[in-house]
Amino acid sequence: MDATLTKVMELGSYSLGLWFKPQGAFPQFIAGQHVTLVLKNESLTGANKAHTYTIASTPMELPEILIASKDSPSVFKKALRELEPGDSVTITNPIGDFYLHEGDRPVVMIAGGIGITPFRSMLMQAFHAGITRAIHVLYSNKTVDIAFKQDLDDLAVRYPALSMTYTVTEPAASWSGEKRLITSEFISDYCANPLGFDFYVCGPPGMVNACSAFLTELHVPQDQVYVERFTGYHALHPHSKQ
Ligand SMILES: Cc1cc2nc3c(=O)[nH]c(=O)nc-3n(C[C@H](O)[C@H](O)[C@H](O)COP(=O)(O)OP(=O)(O)OC[C@H]3O[C@@H](n4cnc5c(N)ncnc54)[C@H](O)[C@@H]3O)c2cc1C
Repeated sequence: MDATLTKVMELGSYSLGLWFKPQGAFPQFIAGQHVTLVLKNESLTGANKAHTYTIASTPMELPEILIASKDSPSVFKKALRELEPGDSVTITNPIGDFYLHEGDRPVVMIAGGIGITPFRSMLMQAFHAGITRAIHVLYSNKTVDIAFKQDLDDLAVRYPALSMTYTVTEPAASWSGEKRLITSEFISDYCANPLGFDFYVCGPPGMVNACSAFLTELHVPQDQVYVERFTGYHALHPHSKQ
């Protein structure tokens, strides 16, 4: 369906937030699902014209939807940056099975960079709906430009069941928080009994594969681990063998 760009926001220095208003009734979706965004530029074809994006906003924010895109020098991203409010794109129906599944276990969400998008949606939706399940988010970034940090911190103040740990692996001198990469030791430091938790991991494929391997090392059963790989980002997690 066609959708009109209504608002553009800078999310730190490296990512862009784009709000779109679909020109018709957008289907209900589950927080965490994704769409394909197709640009209308006649000169673009194939992968330069269409990219997959998780909806970073929540179903309760319809009729508008938010896409958060990490910058890169690609042809697609350049064209995305040139969009202006009033411009039209095509957005496909939402799909995907990376959403917060029902259960009693407390949850750990592990995000690598822009891999935070499904968690922003899931967390805002879940706490608005009255969830009381404890959720701890381990959110790793290279620099202190952390997309959605203010939204997440505000949410954690309103909902005591939510706690946040940020790690910045190439921080400015002023950063006093975690600087370590996420490893099995890091996970154990924040989660003394990992077998009692459900884990959700999202980010570039290398990071997701590395974190899945850490959870296996920690003996977390496979059916307690949900992953979403942002295929297309090839940055290697320094600990992955990919
Ligand atoms: C389910 C899902 C959700 C995503 N959500 C987000 C999001 O919320 N925010 C965000 O910034 N990014 C998201 N991505 C990643 C996004 O779709 C792009 O792949 C990524 O932004 C890289 O684009 P690029 O223009 O920088 O690289 P490009 O130059 O377009 O791509 C680099 C290389 O990766 C290949 N490639 C690109 N996209 C894909 C793909 N989807 N599958 C397989 N190969 C591919 C290209 O052919 C090329 O070889 C998501 C991806 C998936 C699969």
